Amino acid sequence: MVAEVIINSIVKNLNKIFDYNIPKELENKVKIGSRVLIPFGNQKKLEDAFVIGIKEKSKYEIKDIVSFQEQAFKKENINLAKFMSKRYFCNISDCLKLMLSPGTSTKNIENRIKEKNISFIYLIKEKEEIENDIENKIIKSEKQIRALNFLKDNNEVTFLDMEMFADVSRSIIKTLEKNGYVEIVEKKIKRNPFINKNIKKDTKRKLTNEQEHAYKEISNSIEKQEYGKFLIYGVTGSGKTEIYMQLIEKVLKEKKSSIVLVPEISLTPQMVDRFIARFGQDKIAVLHSKLSVGERYDEWNRIKNNEAKIIIGARSAIFAPVQEIGLIVIDEEHDDSYKSEMNPRYNAKEIAQIIAKNNNIPLVLGSATPDINTFYSTSINETKLLTLTKRANEAQLPKIKIIDLRQELEKGNRTMISTELYKAIKQNLEKKKQTILFLNRRGFSTFIMCRDCGYVAKCPNCNISLTYHRKQNVLKCHYCGHIQKVIKKCPECESNNIRYFGTGTQKLEEQIIKMFPNATTIRMDVDTVNKKNSHEEILNKFKNENLDILIGTQMVVKGHHFPNVTLVGVVAADSSLNIDNYKANETTFDLLVQVAGRAGREGEEGNVIIQTYNPDNFAIECAKKQNYEYFYNAEIHLRKQLKYPPFCDIIMFGISSINEKEVIEVSNFLYEKLKKYNINGLVLKPIPAPIDKIKNRYRWRMIIKTKVNNELIEIINEVLNSFYEKKYKNTRVIVDINPNNLL
Ligand code: ADP
Ligand code: ZN
Ligand code: ZN
Repeated sequence: MVAEVIINSIVKNLNKIFDYNIPKELENKVKIGSRVLIPFGNQKKLEDAFVIGIKEKSKYEIKDIVSFQEQAFKKENINLAKFMSKRYFCNISDCLKLMLSPGTSTKNIENRIKEKNISFIYLIKEKEEIENDIENKIIKSEKQIRALNFLKDNNEVTFLDMEMFADVSRSIIKTLEKNGYVEIVEKKIKRNPFINKNIKKDTKRKLTNEQEHAYKEISNSIEKQEYGKFLIYGVTGSGKTEIYMQLIEKVLKEKKSSIVLVPEISLTPQMVDRFIARFGQDKIAVLHSKLSVGERYDEWNRIKNNEAKIIIGARSAIFAPVQEIGLIVIDEEHDDSYKSEMNPRYNAKEIAQIIAKNNNIPLVLGSATPDINTFYSTSINETKLLTLTKRANEAQLPKIKIIDLRQELEKGNRTMISTELYKAIKQNLEKKKQTILFLNRRGFSTFIMCRDCGYVAKCPNCNISLTYHRKQNVLKCHYCGHIQKVIKKCPECESNNIRYFGTGTQKLEEQIIKMFPNATTIRMDVDTVNKKNSHEEILNKFKNENLDILIGTQMVVKGHHFPNVTLVGVVAADSSLNIDNYKANETTFDLLVQVAGRAGREGEEGNVIIQTYNPDNFAIECAKKQNYEYFYNAEIHLRKQLKYPPFCDIIMFGISSINEKEVIEVSNFLYEKLKKYNINGLVLKPIPAPIDKIKNRYRWRMIIKTKVNNELIEIINEVLNSFYEKKYKNTRVIVDINPNNLL
């Protein structure tokens, strides 16, 4: 027999099917989905490969498969990966890797030491950069490549994991450290936060009429074994999770598994605890990026062996190796994190729909502010709309007030806090209640500018302004990490009149400390959340130590319940409106509604103050009214007029190169190629990206506005192949369908 194999490689030109002979002694082992070792070309080392087809004969003269590694995939996985590779313009092996158990260990897992202080290995170069270095043979050592690939695919990797799962020794890692690929960070290890807790058992609630209706509709589809797509639309606290849990229970009775996707950042212990309380720990597997490979390996196997039938996880948990799927739930379905912005650039909602259709099961989406596209799909009957209008626990919606910052300026208030917000914070402090201040401005917020000539300090590697960091008194680039001294004199006009502009979270914290010297504050943004201080830990500190004021970027929006928070201040609602993106209104509306939802969740009335320079913007107005449908009706009208999703798709080509001439040449090449086809839509001329240089790579982009269909996918794949054939060394092209941002 002959096996059709795909080599496990990122090299674009190796995304081909090769024939290999299955020797007699392996004939009862090697099947579709097997992972095998094969000789390739005239190199000595054997290649890792996946069997994706079996046939009688080959037309070529072929070599033998050398050994069988494991039965890695089901046939369904192979079909999905083939589909994804076309649809998301990537290698089949890239997709299969998402469905692969993390590491094939031959050593005894039980012996993993439960150390206290453990060194973790982190990549410090971008994945794409590493791929380039491998492709261009800057790294040649087979072991180093294996180590890097392993680190690309896994998070929180220890030395021991490296040895056990990737067969890479400590000295190899040290070399990579020396060459600037990895850093080694020693951390105190927490026990897996989801394990070994004593959680009180919880029983199901009697459903309200609205919940009952939604439950019935979906369980019908379970009983009839029919595909169905449902949207449960209801505010936070309206009882969506209760419905999910009762559906899961039903599916569990049929001995089938359920996958529940949640945004990574809201995958908190509290959230998981609710499921544990209902179903018990053994039935639940949790998959998220903070698991060590060892933990991930364990969870993966518990799912594969059908021990854990309820999988809760972030985006990639959609590929969990369940035996028989019965239900897929996607909570907070409007969240951006379901779309991968890395290779493979898949959308977990699309994948979920395919899996649900193939298995004749329901797909349940839930949100208080549904994705505009999802809500639209209910109006054309692709999705069944199930609405919950009441909060199950009778909590009140918060009171929302809008403050016009232009008037504050006229009154001479130059701080970031309006008089109204100041008063409210003061009152809240007196009542010993907690406050959250939200400012959606990280990065290029506090920049340095010359008052005389307008010069702005920019990063030499990336065309973006440098951010001032008060603590270290330096300027930093948030894209590449470039650091430089603060300038005292303008390099252009020699003026000493240098001003610090902007309103980042750091500056806000400073002002708050000045205004309320006795208040305790904590800040959460990209600079305080790092490998050692997780998002989770900061929020826990705020909650457990009952600190007065939490200041943060959008990270504060999701997850935790804060029973003692009664005031939320949005310091500048405009920042997400000024993004060069058709989704700006939607993003702003979602954010504001979610932020507002943080106030007064238990009994107590909550107050929300939104400060803005655009009080008339309809997204802000709708957020004040907490009225999604009002917002939807205005937004869908706009999208239709301007031809944006759901009325068409945005296909973005991102072209980047260290060579400026080459990036333009390739962009034009792609444009000319595409023009030759008869594409029913708009192919826009390539232009420099809004951030036209990052890490010394020049960046261009080209956009097609049209509905994606199979024909178009074929065309794009053909065009890309003709680019790969040209073997440009310095230039990368990515294609992304409906990316989260166009930067
Ligand atoms: P959502 O997922 O929409 O935010 P939840 O399902 O978490 O809402 O429900 C919010 C709160 O109301 C939870 O504490 C939950 O236990 C409770 N709850 C939900 N449904 C009911 C019900 N039918 N009867 C009583 N309490 C309920
Ligand atoms: Zn100047
Ligand atoms: Zn930079």
